[in-house]
Amino acid sequence: MPDKRVALVTGAGRGIGAAIALTLAKDNADIAVVDYGEEAAAAETLAALTAAGAVARYYKCDVSDFAATKAVADAVVKDFGKIDILVNNAGVTADDLLMRMSEAAWDRVLGINLKGCFNMIKHVTPYMMRKRYGRIVSISSVVGLMGNAGQANYAASKAGIIGLTKSVAKEFGARNITANAVAPGFIKTAMTDALTEEQKQAMYKLIPLGALGETQDIANAVKFLVSDDARYITGVVLKVDGGMYI
Ligand code: NAD
Repeated sequence: MPDKRVALVTGAGRGIGAAIALTLAKDNADIAVVDYGEEAAAAETLAALTAAGAVARYYKCDVSDFAATKAVADAVVKDFGKIDILVNNAGVTADDLLMRMSEAAWDRVLGINLKGCFNMIKHVTPYMMRKRYGRIVSISSVVGLMGNAGQANYAASKAGIIGLTKSVAKEFGARNITANAVAPGFIKTAMTDALTEEQKQAMYKLIPLGALGETQDIANAVKFLVSDDARYITGVVLKVDGGMYI
């Protein structure tokens, strides 16, 4: 069996991040779970990762905090010896029409969703460069490609991730570090579960495959992009959206 890889997944306490972490754990990776909640909130995820045979550790960190993300990158390398895979998944929304959007709502969403990716990439890539190996996947959104009324801050942050990813792909390619983005469409989460049947039907009409995606669909895309099968793929935005963006 090849050496275990080490994956740092942000926002892995729950939702899509937890599915990504578990999928990578099943694919022979040890996992650094980075999230800003208390460790207890991620207890279920940590137990599942351990049950899947991974060494899993929790790091409490707000990804928008530059100094804190450096401390986490350093701690993960101290604990695990290396970071092979970085998945920037932590993200938030603070929706409002632009006319009503506060400066705080703009700064918070850009700070977590976009600067959070910069922070982690900035502090993890020095370690990847030394090993001449790295796989970076950042979770964007089809909203970053399409825009969305009521989500100017979120759409800007997710579009920013695409520019960041392409630039990182160009800067680090020579060091055998790839950088790609995954752009989910509507994914079945606690948020979409709360929609009424009528709202869901309206959403299905926008999606050629006629259904919401599962968190596993996103995890599968990430698993592919960090695999050897994707060794020649960098700077792409892989849409996992049931065709919504066609
Ligand atoms: P979620 O809210 O269920 O989970 C997000 C996780 O990120 C949580 O564990 C939260 O604690 C963590 N987090 C939030 N802010 C953080 C911070 N500052 N520092 C560290 N951790 C932080 O969300 P989700 O639906 O699983 O979404 C995951 C990612 O996928 C996000 O980037 C989101 O924008 C993106 N996305 C989701 C959908 C969807 O339909 N759910 C669609 C497109 C893109």
